[in-house]
Amino acid sequence: MTADTTRWIRNFVDGRYVDPEPGPGHRSFDAIDPATGRAHAQVHEADAPLVDRAVTAARTALGPWSSTPVRERTAVLRRAADLIEARFEEFVAAETADTGKPLTLSRELDVPRAVANFRTFADVVAAAGQESFMTDLAGGRQALNYAVRKPLGVVAVIVPWNLPLLLLTWKVAPALACGNTVVVKPSEETPGTATLLAEVLAEAGLPAGAYNVVHGFGGGSAGEHLTTHPGIDGVTFTGSSATGAHVMKTVAPRVRPVSFELGGKNAALVFEDADIEETLDGLQRSVFANTGQVCLCTERVYVQRSVFADIADGLVERAKSLRLGSPLDEATTTGPLISQAHRDKVRGYFDLAEQCGAKVLTGGDIPRLGGDLDGGSWIEPTLWTGLTNADRPVREEIFGPVAALIPFDTEAEAIALANDTEYGLASSVWTSDLRRGHRVAQAMNVGMSWVNTWFLRDLRSPFGGVGLSGLGREGGASSLHFYTEPTNVCVQL
Ligand code: NAD
Repeated sequence: MTADTTRWIRNFVDGRYVDPEPGPGHRSFDAIDPATGRAHAQVHEADAPLVDRAVTAARTALGPWSSTPVRERTAVLRRAADLIEARFEEFVAAETADTGKPLTLSRELDVPRAVANFRTFADVVAAAGQESFMTDLAGGRQALNYAVRKPLGVVAVIVPWNLPLLLLTWKVAPALACGNTVVVKPSEETPGTATLLAEVLAEAGLPAGAYNVVHGFGGGSAGEHLTTHPGIDGVTFTGSSATGAHVMKTVAPRVRPVSFELGGKNAALVFEDADIEETLDGLQRSVFANTGQVCLCTERVYVQRSVFADIADGLVERAKSLRLGSPLDEATTTGPLISQAHRDKVRGYFDLAEQCGAKVLTGGDIPRLGGDLDGGSWIEPTLWTGLTNADRPVREEIFGPVAALIPFDTEAEAIALANDTEYGLASSVWTSDLRRGHRVAQAMNVGMSWVNTWFLRDLRSPFGGVGLSGLGREGGASSLHFYTEPTNVCVQL
């Protein structure tokens, strides 16, 4: 479909927008509203020379920005947070236009978290200290060891489409606070808010070239041009495990650091002593939030047999209470999937689950919402029983509003089932026995293990995954470690 609009989303390089130049080399693509399938803007695709210009601009800006005192750098971050708040509804509208998520969700989650990311990392970097060690030497002398932390350099930031602004600022805020400069490549599905952020950062006083945006796809496009560019000093990437593995290979010959936040196949473990209503509230969010398109979403729900029917019935009721509809309608709880291609993938798992013998408790189809919305990539919230850990829908990340409910008898069995996965991002344990809560949470092979809650984040705490779910941690001091390199100084006294 071709956009019938002249609204352009442009690349932002060296402090200004780059106007698309007409001609055979110029390429663009449509920004699609997933709720209707209609284009709402045209995006200028960055070619290799433009990515090169962005990296060069970031390199030029690195010296001045990294030598700017921390209090001035953090002041820029705080002003950026204030300016996002001042343009709050503009960010909300841009995020919803690209993702189809309800305005209410962009207002409650995505945009406030962007503000919080800037403020938190300004605080974290302002308060950061250095470790030092006194070493006793022969003859009563001593040596003082301390490390100075220097920015990594020009950081390539590559992010996905599910929480576009939240995930972008989660990386850009600490990177800039630590004195790095960045070239960001938003998802081709969600170019809007990364572009708006460029205006905000410029107005907040960030020097030209410190934040650049290049739009495009992965292989053969801006993503690959960026990760293969010899001028980048590190890559921070959020996306699928397959793309992460590919990017790792790409940067391996130049031995650059990478931070990877990748896919998940997250488990919830519900014990018979759990508060059933509180658990159902938590499961409703963890299975269906953002139409199941959060890396932390639960797709495997293990339930102790004695409460299995209560949980299954209660969750079906909650799935049915979700309201799919126009993202602009305040009553809408659930938006579409990001694209028709992604819906085809999720739908493929519906078929596969039935072939594996699943019983569909609710959903399993494409809803008809009427009018314009029938052009969108909608899918029904779906719950299955009758599957086991051997079945592909229970092993592979689906990334939709869907979960398999599987019974267990003992705590040991629940732990074994939950850990029987190649992923290791997040889990949630539901129990009123706090000792059990701690015990089981600690036994999970994941980066984030919640007890009686889900997606509750203190941004100073580490975030990341094990196995196919990623490499390294970001958040608080972990972000400072990734976005800086220490030089240890040893002084004999
Ligand atoms: P994706 O891997 O397809 O794309 C992510 C980004 O990488 C996009 O900007 C894309 O254009 C770019 N890209 C693709 N191929 C590339 C290449 N060869 N070189 C450079 N860049 C390339 O992922 P997606 O479909 O956009 O996002 C969904 C995935 O992200 C899910 O697997 C989800 O679990 C994961 N995710 C993880 C986290 C986390 O924090 N662990 C958070 C959100 C999403």
